[in-house]
Amino acid sequence: MNDYIVAAEQGYYMDPALAPAACGPLQHWHRDEPPSLPPDDRARGTPIRVYVNHGRWIAECPGCRGAQYASRTDRRFYCVDCLNAWNAGAWARTLWPDDASLAVIEDLLCRRHVENRHWLPSESLAALELENHLHPQALVVAAGSGAIRLPGIF
Ligand SMILES: [Zn+2]
Repeated sequence: MNDYIVAAEQGYYMDPALAPAACGPLQHWHRDEPPSLPPDDRARGTPIRVYVNHGRWIAECPGCRGAQYASRTDRRFYCVDCLNAWNAGAWARTLWPDDASLAVIEDLLCRRHVENRHWLPSESLAALELENHLHPQALVVAAGSGAIRLPGIF
């Protein structure tokens, strides 16, 4: 079991010759035409908020709902399914929680079994902590020690 939330850097082979956000689209290319990326490396348009699903940081295409691992280090998104048609074919920026919130989100989620590691941008840190408290069966249990005790408000 991972003690971190998987992003593109862990979920994809990172070709050092490629920008991290390019690795996902190029590894998942399933179109008839040869793989290609937007000629302009800059991101524009409406940013995409990343979320956590089953222990993975995900960027989901607002145009077609295609999803990929989100890159922590290259905060851009390009959909292999619709080629970001909704964004005139340009890279889109991904929006992540701020660093402090990200650390808390990952800490709270990693107390859970992978199948229970979910977070949406609309969920507060307090809501995540409350979920952990209300659903102890979803938490990782160390052998012989019972559920991990949560710091904070409980
Ligand atoms: Zn798409």
